[in-house]
Amino acid sequence: MQATTTVPHPSKPAADPNSASTTELIAALRAAVGPTNVLVDPDITAAYSRDMMPLASAGRPLAVVFPTDTAQVAAVVRACAGAGVPMVPRGAGSGLTGAANAVDGAVSVVLTKMDRILEVDEGNRLAVVQPGVVNLTFRSEVETRGLFYAPDPSSYDWCTLGGNLSTNAGGLCCVKYGVTTDAVLGLEVVLASGEVLRTGRRTVKGVAGYDLTKLIVGSEGTLGIITEATLALRPKPAAPCTLVAAFASTEDAGGAVSGAIRAGLVPSLLEIMDATCIKAVEAYTKSSILGDDTPTPAAILIGQSDVGGPGGRREMDELERVCLAANAVFSYVTDDLAEGRMLLQARRAVLTSLEVLGTWLTDDVCVPRTQMAALIAACSEISSEVGLTIGVVGHAGDGNMHPTIVYDNSKPAERAAAEVAFGRILDAGRALGGTVTGEHGIGRIKQGFLADEIGPVGIEVHRAIKRALDPAGLFNPGSMFSAG
Ligand SMILES: Cc1cc2nc3c(=O)[nH]c(=O)nc-3n(C[C@H](O)[C@H](O)[C@H](O)COP(=O)(O)OP(=O)(O)OC[C@H]3O[C@@H](n4cnc5c(N)ncnc54)[C@H](O)[C@@H]3O)c2cc1C
Repeated sequence: MQATTTVPHPSKPAADPNSASTTELIAALRAAVGPTNVLVDPDITAAYSRDMMPLASAGRPLAVVFPTDTAQVAAVVRACAGAGVPMVPRGAGSGLTGAANAVDGAVSVVLTKMDRILEVDEGNRLAVVQPGVVNLTFRSEVETRGLFYAPDPSSYDWCTLGGNLSTNAGGLCCVKYGVTTDAVLGLEVVLASGEVLRTGRRTVKGVAGYDLTKLIVGSEGTLGIITEATLALRPKPAAPCTLVAAFASTEDAGGAVSGAIRAGLVPSLLEIMDATCIKAVEAYTKSSILGDDTPTPAAILIGQSDVGGPGGRREMDELERVCLAANAVFSYVTDDLAEGRMLLQARRAVLTSLEVLGTWLTDDVCVPRTQMAALIAACSEISSEVGLTIGVVGHAGDGNMHPTIVYDNSKPAERAAAEVAFGRILDAGRALGGTVTGEHGIGRIKQGFLADEIGPVGIEVHRAIKRALDPAGLFNPGSMFSAG
């Protein structure tokens, strides 16, 4: 890798939109990606200034560009580097940390037009994709060939694979299949110098050199722009067998999760919803999750096995036994696909349902599975202290909880209370031996929490890596950790 030329640090004042150098940069961007793929009208570029995190700061981009291939990305990076203008890579903008939010005077590089599935190699069970492919589009395509791409964030019908790679996204299936990084074999990345780095391999095994693939995955657009990914596929799992179990207390639900782990069960998903989330979904969908005769429990667990056939049924029957031993007040196992789908739809509808009650602010904290109930109890205390509703939904099988704060964004006091609750939940998670993010990342809202979690040595190593790959601090400045 060659050293980049020194360019002004992005923390310097934003470029004057009418200056000669800005005009020159816009001309270079138009030459790089074509005039129709460069937006400069502030009324239009404003649509690209934020993601889905209401608390994060956001600036006004100088321009928004839509490259369509790797050479165009490299040309954009070279033009920006030459002008000393930072860049914010962006996928669909579904992120929940402000990581794709625009920076004043920077160029937002939106990868959604690089949306081709370049190859599906059935013999080697892998695929090569561009970053703008939507997760569900990709999953659906490989499924037609009897294959399976595991990472499945709840936003899978609109988030992009590039965003998933850059946040190391998780989802419902992590308890069995891990997070995005566990499905990545290699990457193509445009570096700050405009050079193209290829990492990884197409083979099942491969340990040559530092694992640069894992370094880039989860780097939130701070080290380079991913322009291609080689992804590992699995055989398509069997149709699921589904369990739902209800509990009179969240402690009992937590006990069932620990019991399942102790019993050696590996469901393909194991999700939890507390009473607040259950009620919100039932009000929104105008239907009862457990049937009209069952009162709203303190929590439900939804589990699935994708082993198939009698094996899948056995796995869910065993999970049911574990739930009953943990005092479940209701349980039901079904092979019926429509019923299973309905239960999962209820789980996926939580955020939309909470939105009816106000602005939602979803947290992301991962605790040891034995501490899940303690975290939910802490959320309940925090809710009483700040006077806001907090519903807890999450990936119980891996301890990754999404306590979701509901507040009125038009009331400054409620917004401030939501911010306090957001931080207290993270502190509670850390105190229970957890981490401040299981899948959403750090972005522009958790820098302080990252610094606390990994300590000064960890932060300095992050900075050293950043300096080595992006010495001028061009990629996504202000996100994840401070450069200085
Ligand atoms: C309703 C809802 C449910 C969600 N559920 C989940 C869930 O279950 N699990 C989960 O993990 N997340 C979830 N998310 C969060 C979000 O969908 C994920 O973080 C997703 O991976 C973001 O993808 P995106 O395409 O929207 O990326 P963006 O939000 O546009 O960007 C995210 C980050 O990736 C960087 N980036 C994007 N593309 C590139 C690229 N090509 N090269 C370099 N950097 C790039 C950006 O700079 C930014 O740092 C949810 C969000 C919503 C709104």
